[in-house]
Amino acid sequence: MRLFPLFADVSARRVLVVGGGAVAERKVRSLLVSDAEVVVGSPALTEALRALHKEGRIQHIPGTFEPGWLDDAWLVIAATDDREINRKVADLASERRIFINVVDDPALSSFQVPSIVDRSPITIAISSAGYAPVLARRVRERIESLFDHSLGALATLAQRYRPAIRKARPDLRQRREFYDWMLDGPVGDALRREQAEQAEQSLQSELARAVDMPEGKVVLVGAGPGDPGLLTLKALRALNEADVILFDRLVSREILDLARRDAEQVSVGKRPGENHDATQARIHALMLEHARAGRLVVRLKGGDAFVFGRGGEELEFLRSHDIPYEVVPGITAALACSAYAGVPLTHRDHAQSVTLVTAHCREGAMLEDWPALARAKQTLAFYMPVSQLDWLAAQLMSHGRSGDTPYVIVENGTRPEQRVIHGRLENLAQAAATHAVKSPSLLLVGEVTGLAPDLQWFGARIDTDAGVETAA
Ligand code: SAH
Repeated sequence: MRLFPLFADVSARRVLVVGGGAVAERKVRSLLVSDAEVVVGSPALTEALRALHKEGRIQHIPGTFEPGWLDDAWLVIAATDDREINRKVADLASERRIFINVVDDPALSSFQVPSIVDRSPITIAISSAGYAPVLARRVRERIESLFDHSLGALATLAQRYRPAIRKARPDLRQRREFYDWMLDGPVGDALRREQAEQAEQSLQSELARAVDMPEGKVVLVGAGPGDPGLLTLKALRALNEADVILFDRLVSREILDLARRDAEQVSVGKRPGENHDATQARIHALMLEHARAGRLVVRLKGGDAFVFGRGGEELEFLRSHDIPYEVVPGITAALACSAYAGVPLTHRDHAQSVTLVTAHCREGAMLEDWPALARAKQTLAFYMPVSQLDWLAAQLMSHGRSGDTPYVIVENGTRPEQRVIHGRLENLAQAAATHAVKSPSLLLVGEVTGLAPDLQWFGARIDTDAGVETAA
């Protein structure tokens, strides 16, 4: 179950806390920070709760829980050490549609209180849905160290100047740049030195500076093979700044989830019945339309845009239409799959060169120079091999590569469902059929792949020589 995150305004709203011990006291304190009208129901109170009651900051209902306590409450927190009482409170609250948190009991709770990093007005809340509060606290500690306390002052300043910023920077991208500048530039610096006046002066003079409307731009970004950990920092930044993301079928959901929430995400993969040229023409038209409207377009491709990704064609197109562009390289399938399958692409004893080859080419053209590809002591990485596996093995062997040469097929490389199939060229066709190899898969051929049985460290492993299948 996934909880819906929510920040609730509890000021002047009645919140019932059942229990008067140390745990209840902690909850009461955080409720008071949010100006809730706190009612504590319990036979006895801690000394601190008694003091709060005396000061008139909380109300106290002495005694053991009664259903009437729930009257007019918006929220309830049960913090007694008696599970039966907690359960009763939970049952009755739920019956009356009042959200209830039973401390340390997710099963009885309908809401959870997150761990927070407080940089008011910025609040970062972390939740493990109540199942691993200690882990949530560890995450909180890390985030604490990421944002120093000037962040609160910065947000307050930003709030005061919000209308002025909106007026001076009407375009969303300009505004985002302005806020970045506030965070990373002299305003943030001054606030960290507790020099509020100087921060405000910098802000005002920057606001007075006229800026041009930003130009539309296309950033060609390599998303890597699937594991989001293999994105570059620049790719992540581009995803955070994009207005529009045009993504290919190979790009994983986890990666798209890292993009700015309000970026428009458009899948531009090949449609059924459409040929590649029509797909490409559609992509070109979309890039042009959005960039001319002044947007930041991220063209997101699997692996690297310049390795069998038609990146070159897209840049030529942009160039001929005078659209500015940048390129962010990504980890291509050959590098990623070899790493995750434990195959060093070169090796002093086994391979002096690596060739990246497409198993598909423009209709009619002869594929490559087979005698050169079939020479020993080199590594071949075949992209898009799935429908051609038997033909590729046959070509290599008929041009002189030994049937004994090892290969690996890496299916879904770097993803949780990765499979690596090990074997020798002469059994390749049969092994691929037996194990129903699916796209995306990469075929690596050469002496270096003989190291994979020893060196593979990630994903499932299928050894077709020995016929065994294990999880590495
Ligand atoms: N630009 C991409 C390649 C696009 S061609 C890159 O640099 O990686 C598509 C082919 O890439 C697939 O058919 C497959 O051979 C390979 N490929 C891409 N991602 C892969 C993955 N996660 N695992 C195995 N092969 C992959």
